[in-house]
Amino acid sequence: MRLLIDGALVLTMDPVLGEMAGARVGVEGQDIAFVLQQGQPLPTGWKPDRTLDGRGRLLMPGLINAHTHVPMTLLRGYADDLPLHTWLFDHVMPAEGRLTAEDAYWGTLLGAAEMIRAGITAFADMYFFEDAIARAVLDSGMRASLGRGLVEGGAPGNLEDVRFLHRNFEGAGDGRVTTMVAPHSVYTCSPAFLERCASLAGELGVGIHVHLSETTREVEECLSTHGMTPVALAKKTGLLEGHTLVAHAVDLREGDVDILAATPGAVVHNPQSNQKLASGIAPVAELLARGATVALGTDGASSANTLDILEAGRWAAYAQKAAGRDAAALPARTVLAMATTGGAAALGLADHVGRVAPGFQADLVLVSLDRPHLVPSYDPCSTVVYTARADDVETVLVAGQVVMEKRALLTIDEERVLAEARERVRKFAR
Ligand SMILES: [Zn+2]
Repeated sequence: MRLLIDGALVLTMDPVLGEMAGARVGVEGQDIAFVLQQGQPLPTGWKPDRTLDGRGRLLMPGLINAHTHVPMTLLRGYADDLPLHTWLFDHVMPAEGRLTAEDAYWGTLLGAAEMIRAGITAFADMYFFEDAIARAVLDSGMRASLGRGLVEGGAPGNLEDVRFLHRNFEGAGDGRVTTMVAPHSVYTCSPAFLERCASLAGELGVGIHVHLSETTREVEECLSTHGMTPVALAKKTGLLEGHTLVAHAVDLREGDVDILAATPGAVVHNPQSNQKLASGIAPVAELLARGATVALGTDGASSANTLDILEAGRWAAYAQKAAGRDAAALPARTVLAMATTGGAAALGLADHVGRVAPGFQADLVLVSLDRPHLVPSYDPCSTVVYTARADDVETVLVAGQVVMEKRALLTIDEERVLAEARERVRKFAR
């Protein structure tokens, strides 16, 4: 299948290509075949099977939600206005004990529908029932890196589950699904268990996905139990030697930023969840200034209540500016990089995902610029980050497949998904 997207204003997020007005983007199979300047002839003999009109629209790489627990869509709004430990241990975990694999499948499709509608093409997940989640990812057409959340001595889940997920789903859907080893945190896993997770990740050749330093309580307890911060403990147990996705990093102490900046992985900032659970504001501007890779996530929809990355980006920018009393902190361009190339790096896919460039996967989003709140647009990055809303996203491709066109979902039966979700949460009614 050859598809041409012609005439859009393209935010390539590629350092060489930059912004291109009226560009011609050719997609062949899963990949971007070429990105041409306005008016340039198509490659000799290259005829598109279909053409999408890009005029009056902005084309950019698909947004990436680099930290979520996607079936928690079913617990959206279930326990609001509570601090993290009460929210998690007294409300969320007991409810999660009643979830089934089929609930997780439908909860994932609900999240996928929400994310595609918001221009999100890929996500990193940590949860249980990851095989059901993987099936939903494959059915939805999305891209995801999945990790079976490991809580030592808690809900069932062990390293065999990780091997099972890896054996059955690594590389599935022509590479759309990848897997990670996902120990939940230092407060739910022992150092010895974290070491086993690190060596399993090395053995399987996959990344690690972990929550670190989300709250001051977590950091203080870690300091008194282990004599070091969660970040230092992660480093000591070998968790930060390979590619590791560190979710949160809100309460960082002396030396933590240096450790995170030196790791080959990425930090994922979740501004909505951190603010709503009153965890605090992560030192994102400092992490970036010191050379860390930082991506954006929403966390689960039970803490953030939405999986919207445009909204996360805006919250991130505002919080950094206000907290640092610095209007120049986290400018629009940086926020968009966090949501695209940063997200791809967090998922371990930076070499072929996150840019509109030849050879990259055709994970693409067309945004309408023809709406009152988007006019005028002096700077397209500013328009996307500070003004655009999820429902301005018109058309979405993942790996060359059109998954939403003119706001119509093509891979998900939305009516059925909403009905299933409503039916399945009746057991949680209070
Ligand atoms: Zn989380």
